[in-house]
Amino acid sequence: MTQLHAEIISIGDELTSGQRLDTNSQWISQQLGAIGIRVMYHTTVADDVDANIDVFRKAIARTDLVVTTGGLGPTADDLTRQSLAIAVGVELYRDNNALETIKALFTSRGREMPPKNVVQADFPVGSIPIHNPEGTAPGIDLSIEQAGQQRRVFCLPGVPAEMKQMWNNTVEPAIIAMNPENKRLIKHFVIKTFGMGESDMERTLPDLVARGRKPTVGITASYATITLRITTEGNSDQECEAQAAETIETIQNCLGNTIYAYHECEIQDVVASMLQARGESVAVLESGTRGLVSHNLHSVQDQHSTIDQCQLRPALPNEKTDLASVAKDFHSNNQAHYSIVVGDVRAATADDVEQLPVIIASDHGLHHHEFRFTGHSDIRIAKAAKQAINCLRLQLLSQQAD
Ligand code: AMP
Ligand code: MG
Repeated sequence: MTQLHAEIISIGDELTSGQRLDTNSQWISQQLGAIGIRVMYHTTVADDVDANIDVFRKAIARTDLVVTTGGLGPTADDLTRQSLAIAVGVELYRDNNALETIKALFTSRGREMPPKNVVQADFPVGSIPIHNPEGTAPGIDLSIEQAGQQRRVFCLPGVPAEMKQMWNNTVEPAIIAMNPENKRLIKHFVIKTFGMGESDMERTLPDLVARGRKPTVGITASYATITLRITTEGNSDQECEAQAAETIETIQNCLGNTIYAYHECEIQDVVASMLQARGESVAVLESGTRGLVSHNLHSVQDQHSTIDQCQLRPALPNEKTDLASVAKDFHSNNQAHYSIVVGDVRAATADDVEQLPVIIASDHGLHHHEFRFTGHSDIRIAKAAKQAINCLRLQLLSQQAD
């Protein structure tokens, strides 16, 4: 059997109007990826019959496997059952077992089933119910043949907890059973980097991001943190790891210390664990970063023992010697092993952009750094705060190496 392709459809006005973020598609894609199924489309559609029929028809025409969430409730804006029936040209039938299950759920909650809930026992002809252990809305499992191709549609409720439980209990085993020989899985390897721009990185790693390469390497940037994602496909964890190993090594050789982690996390998480492992602590005095260095360090869970004190001061010096004496004073008056001191932004000159000075003070003396304070105003401070924390990370690394 060839590899199955999937489409995920999220249904609801609350999604298309921007009131709620579609997290179901993200989660389902991750689950499908883990069992080797490639997701080709994410579609989000409003609570509208015609629009639903349209997206169902397109999805069934172009993918083997369609998973929908939302629109299975008992109210007038819950249209999944009827839209799916129309899309595939069948009637609805009432499933008595499903109806009894819904009634029993109400009884167990000390209520009588409201009449409008009977529609939740309606299913397109040719489909079977998917048991919902927690809620009133059963899901739908529909198998159809379309132009000689086998198609399978799973409809699940929108409530994430119910959807996930039904996925784990019923849908995932059913999908795996569709192709018992297929043991292929898709595994992602993450490399988090900081300190090199996106275009510099593409230049340093030119052939790695080429299209069609195996394994594929994707680059995404968020607030100056660049994430590399290596995607492998194989028959076992070991096979995927072996596929990724050479690529990871190439990346390590090219990027060195700009790599700070091999899993999703922020630079402050890494610095906090390094400090904790060494039984050391940090204090912060900052001006140009407006308190964000302190905020980032405090956002690390369970690492407060590593933070001695944090101070925001509106106007610190931005000249090297003046800032150095402030840093010396600050460090000798706190109990921390390291002090991160961020000066004020130095105005742009005729031949240079704004600059931000950073000093790391410790028993090893003062280490001076200076960064170009550039970029969109939304990310400038976020980037500068990470740069300041990264200075400490690099210093801790170089001390380890000594
Ligand atoms: P529904 O099954 O359409 O009645 O949705 C029930 C609840 O699940 C609502 O609170 C929705 O906001 C939530 N929900 C529906 N679809 C999604 C989705 N794709 N991602 C996250 N939450 C959702
Ligand atoms: Mg809805």
